[in-house]
Amino acid sequence: MKLTSHPMTLNLRTTFRVSHGASDQRHNVLAQIEHDGLVGYGEAAAVFYYGDTQESLMAYLNGLPDLGDDPFLLEDILNSLPSGPPAARAAVDIALYDLWGKMIGQPLYRLFGLTLAPLPPTSFTIGIDTPDVMAARVRELNYPIIKVKLDADDPESAVAAIRKSTDARLRVDANAAWTPEQALELITRLSQYDLELVEQPLAPGDPKPYVWLHDQLRARGVMTPIFADESIKTSRDVAAHAGAVDGVVVKLMKTGGLREALRTIHTARAHGMKIMLSCMIESSVGVTAAAHLAPLCDHLDLDGPLLIANDPFRGLCYEGAELSIPTAPGLGVSLLDPR
Ligand code: MG
Repeated sequence: MKLTSHPMTLNLRTTFRVSHGASDQRHNVLAQIEHDGLVGYGEAAAVFYYGDTQESLMAYLNGLPDLGDDPFLLEDILNSLPSGPPAARAAVDIALYDLWGKMIGQPLYRLFGLTLAPLPPTSFTIGIDTPDVMAARVRELNYPIIKVKLDADDPESAVAAIRKSTDARLRVDANAAWTPEQALELITRLSQYDLELVEQPLAPGDPKPYVWLHDQLRARGVMTPIFADESIKTSRDVAAHAGAVDGVVVKLMKTGGLREALRTIHTARAHGMKIMLSCMIESSVGVTAAAHLAPLCDHLDLDGPLLIANDPFRGLCYEGAELSIPTAPGLGVSLLDPR
């Protein structure tokens, strides 16, 4: 198997601001594994708040030892990878799964034993801006599920303005911006706006503040579900958060690929937690890979390709908030403008 990596610079349709910072471009990496006349595609998203850059991801991929000649040894291959950025490991995992599907002639969801019977709809994410601009954007989008990015700077005004503009299902994501006391007051007040869930209100690390927040909210009769994103990267982080949060946000770029994403989903289920399948800002390669796990999840937040103006691939399709997952072998993605 021959692994190569290529820079993939994605231009965003609009500037994307979250509590960690703002960006107009993302510098991801495309991985290709060639084997027996077939090409498997994978993607690594460079997420600046995890300290990754396009250069560091490519350096990891270009420095990997030979992957051998048998893509079906996926467990051995992934276990033998040197420690490194989960996003770069995800690119290898995704490309190997794409190869599997192409060798067997089946789409990934079928390799996982899943059907595409009704999938949950996906949300569309609105970055942080002034409340008026955020509300105008929601009206213009006219989307049935909106995920709203918030920080600690008067988040209630943003949610109030958006709720006034739409009946859509609303989820919010604080990206770890609130203190426990702030989160308790804010989530209590925000519950009047009929939120579907609140994602990562507190800093990652110690689960105890999450336990405190959960107990305090319930004591006040606030039932808004809390989901952990930055706090739970892999299956190993799940058990410590059982009882502290209601759900887990699963992303291939945190787990290091599909194989560990499956383990994380099953571990969370074993602890009675809900699952939201999500993505970073990724092209159709990474997000289509994730979408093959969608039948296992309660909520989808797979809007990556919708945020990008120059997606080099075609993969999953959107009709409003409804996803259709490609049925071609492997990921089912194709390069739009082959080089
Ligand atoms: Mg999040």
